[in-house]
Amino acid sequence: MSCECSEFQNITGNLQLLNKSILDIVTKLDEQTSMLNRAVFKSATHCGCIEIHATKQLFSDNKTLEENQLDLDSHVEGELCPKCKEKIIEEMGELLFYLASMCSALNLDLETIMATKMDHLKTLGIYNLL
Ligand SMILES: [Zn+2]
Repeated sequence: MSCECSEFQNITGNLQLLNKSILDIVTKLDEQTSMLNRAVFKSATHCGCIEIHATKQLFSDNKTLEENQLDLDSHVEGELCPKCKEKIIEEMGELLFYLASMCSALNLDLETIMATKMDHLKTLGIYNLL
């Protein structure tokens, strides 16, 4: 299963009936971000297939950025069960839908944005995060 980014944006634009206004799109995008976050947290708090053990990330001045990166932790333990994985993928898809809708409303091209960001990441690498 593959997807062309520009085709995705075209399809979302054609299906955007109820939320055509940029105001509706912005609020739906915000709402959808919350729903995605909730799905992630419910995997830990309701299902229990993953656990989140957050601790302070330790950086050493005696190590390079790359060496420090290896010591960083996602704080996620375990693997998503099929049900939680499906729910999170669904919520991420909805988020992409509203992001593509925002691009269309503002006459921006999602594929160009991704390509520009990818070039930026390739150029700056780990230093992009600083
Ligand atoms: Zn689960």
